[in-house]
Amino acid sequence: MNFHESDERRALRAAVAELGKRYGHRYMRDKVRTDGRATELWEEAGRYGYLGVNIPAEYGGGGGGIADLAAVCEELGAAGCPLLLMVVSPAICGSIIARFGTVAQKERWLPGIADGSTTMAFGITEPDAGSNSHNLTTTGTRTEEGWVLNGRKVFISGVDQADAVLVVGRSADARTGRLKPALFIVPTDVPGFTWQPIEMELVAPEKQFALFLDDVALPADALVGDEDAGLRQLFAGLNPERIMVAAFSLGMARQALDTAVDYAKTRTVWQGPIGAHQGIAHPLAVCAIELEQARLLTQKAAWLYDAGDDEGAGEAANMAKYAAAEAAARIVDQSIQTLGGNGLSVDYGVAALLVASRVARVAPVSREMILNYVAQHTLGLPRSY
Ligand SMILES: Cc1cc2nc3c(=O)[nH]c(=O)nc-3n(C[C@H](O)[C@H](O)[C@H](O)COP(=O)(O)OP(=O)(O)OC[C@H]3O[C@@H](n4cnc5c(N)ncnc54)[C@H](O)[C@@H]3O)c2cc1C
Repeated sequence: MNFHESDERRALRAAVAELGKRYGHRYMRDKVRTDGRATELWEEAGRYGYLGVNIPAEYGGGGGGIADLAAVCEELGAAGCPLLLMVVSPAICGSIIARFGTVAQKERWLPGIADGSTTMAFGITEPDAGSNSHNLTTTGTRTEEGWVLNGRKVFISGVDQADAVLVVGRSADARTGRLKPALFIVPTDVPGFTWQPIEMELVAPEKQFALFLDDVALPADALVGDEDAGLRQLFAGLNPERIMVAAFSLGMARQALDTAVDYAKTRTVWQGPIGAHQGIAHPLAVCAIELEQARLLTQKAAWLYDAGDDEGAGEAANMAKYAAAEAAARIVDQSIQTLGGNGLSVDYGVAALLVASRVARVAPVSREMILNYVAQHTLGLPRSY
């Protein structure tokens, strides 16, 4: 077992960190305040190939794995400018299309996803299904020309900046008539597809939307991959999603911890810096340990996924997402405590992480659903729901 990252990965981290430093949390803050998007950062990261490190080289990507993309995501987060759409476009959609898409779908979508010039959102959550994806009602019906899609989605990130949405729906089995999962690529400009912003307290340039699909006519090749392998294809995208949300949380946690440690070293209100008080130092030491635990789990999950072990990656990705989300929420809270009043000021950039770090406890799969998974699959306990 080798715990050293390769020279290439470390070089990638250093280069991305350098890019992130040039933007930082003030750039993100200004974007949010002016209701803008992180376009300049997204485009520059795309130009350098950072957004597509996991996309196969023959389709314009870096030919690496999800571990590389997670490293990019983590470093941008640690620099104060996390890109939420990285979780969706190259990680979920890019992974699914690269593994299961037809050649035409790969040629159409992957080069743009790789360099960031195309963005694909991902829509699974529905208002009446929530965590219970067995209750999805978005349905694709076969027609002579292709498909007609009807349904509703909520909390879908980045639809306003997306060229298409990878929609998780259901289609009727030709033999039995039973509904089974199916993935459809829905361009955002097709008739019948509309969306509305959902007002969130999240401080991020990426917004969330409710989607309405009313008799959306799609060509036959809108269906991704094999109609009979929808569930397997979906899981191929959900593991990268969880790994990337873990990396996203790790980045935020690092930003918060670095800020707190720097502050604790210099802020003096008694004889020495506040970091000399164990009441400040010990909680920060606990944060460092929890961060490292979550990081190791995330690297393990990414390694398993890149090695082709989808089942092993499933357990590890769930655990990694849980550990990183919990660590980030606690570390952000402790960072704010360390900074006192400055922790809640705009200038230090940690108060903005309060809601952002909390998201990963809920999305893309909630803490409780991960505990359900681990209880059932890891521990063999009875299914509780
Ligand atoms: C910022 C943000 C961005 C998002 N982006 C996207 C996106 O791009 N695409 C997308 O498809 N979705 C997205 N989501 C949606 C997200 O994936 C869902 O919010 C999440 O899956 C939880 O679903 P829900 O909100 O319907 O909660 P619910 O399913 O209603 O759950 C509510 C609470 O009940 C608990 N609960 C439910 N069932 C059980 C059970 N069996 N046992 C124990 N507890 C249970 C949950 O853990 C949770 O605490 C986003 C959400 C947020 C907040």
